[in-house]
Amino acid sequence: MSKKKLTLPVQIVIALIAGVVVGLICYFAGVPEFTTNYLKPFGTIFVNLLKFIVVPVVLLSMIEGIVSMGDMKKVGSIGWKTVAFFMCTTAIACVIGLVLGNIFNGAGLFPQLQLAEGATWEGATSSNFMDTLVGMFPSNMWDAFVKANMLQVIVIALFLGGSILAAGEKANLCKDFVSSAYAVIEKLMNFIISLSPIGVFTMMAWVVATQGVNILGSLALVLLCAYIAYAIHAVCVYSFAAKAFAGVSPLKFFKGAFAAMIFAFTSTSSAATLPVSKDCAKNLGADEEISAFVLPLGATINMDGTAIYQCVATIFLATCCGMSLTLGQMITVVVTATLASIGTAGVSGAGMIMLAMVLQAMGIPVDMIMIIYGVDRLFDMGRTCLNVTGDISGALCVSAWEAKKAAKK
Ligand code: ASP
Repeated sequence: MSKKKLTLPVQIVIALIAGVVVGLICYFAGVPEFTTNYLKPFGTIFVNLLKFIVVPVVLLSMIEGIVSMGDMKKVGSIGWKTVAFFMCTTAIACVIGLVLGNIFNGAGLFPQLQLAEGATWEGATSSNFMDTLVGMFPSNMWDAFVKANMLQVIVIALFLGGSILAAGEKANLCKDFVSSAYAVIEKLMNFIISLSPIGVFTMMAWVVATQGVNILGSLALVLLCAYIAYAIHAVCVYSFAAKAFAGVSPLKFFKGAFAAMIFAFTSTSSAATLPVSKDCAKNLGADEEISAFVLPLGATINMDGTAIYQCVATIFLATCCGMSLTLGQMITVVVTATLASIGTAGVSGAGMIMLAMVLQAMGIPVDMIMIIYGVDRLFDMGRTCLNVTGDISGALCVSAWEAKKAAKK
């Protein structure tokens, strides 16, 4: 008799529920440190494993994608569609974040919190757009790999992929090397992904056990506001786009993206979720070559959850300072939050650091970030989940547009 094996998404759901239960038990039993000392380390090992394959996965899969597309014109055509999709959805995300933030604020639901005396935000130096642009170009290839600077890794992949195409037959050895190395990394990636229930269980138990009090704290309504905006964006923009452009029904879309969403929710890193997102996009029918290009780019520059969070947090922190934003200032928030989200790295907590850029543009003291610092992980779980959902939706839409273009020809 053959035993039926549970599919990965089912295993992940079970792990998630078990994590919440264990976390609650530890929280109410007053032993949250049990999860910190004995469970979280396994989650950290798992996230480290994912991070360790992210650079080779992005580098090799992007180069292979570019090489198999056969010419840089096709890469350019996919590139501009991808960036246009990401920019438009991010601008919509900002508007949703601002509208909901204003509704909550107008209804007096945001608490008026004051900064604790002497609290200062250490990450107060914020970078601007030009710094981000210059920072995209590596001066040392190995340095980009060592620091896992994903924007730089993408630029390197574009240059190397383009050069392999330009070199023609002489580059055959390089082509074969890339495709063989990627086959090996893919096997490793599949193995690491199969361990994800362990990562989800341990991280969830730790978050619930250690943040339980904060969930019930004074920031609950600000969190609620952000999560409603995340949900509206996921349903109205992403699943709508997947349906309208790629013909994938919302149910199928969320079912297919589920493993990556849950994984992003628990790991709070789009970059670390990349291997899982690739799997999900493939199962949903996205073209593999196109996903190899769109997903790493998305995990680096497409951060709609982060943009929503920055808009909601800006309105909330402005209220705490006794400021109310004018329409002109809100437009500035849309522009700066869009740029800040592009510059946000796909790692845990990066969106909070980039929030400094938006606050500075609004004249809100950057130290105010300390008010939400303690619960940032709870915001981060939702925003990373949304970020990754957007990447998968983008891969589906761009695949569909390219397929239509090919069919026309
Ligand atoms: N953690 C988010 C991500 O990886 C970035 C952020 O902090 O907003 O997508």
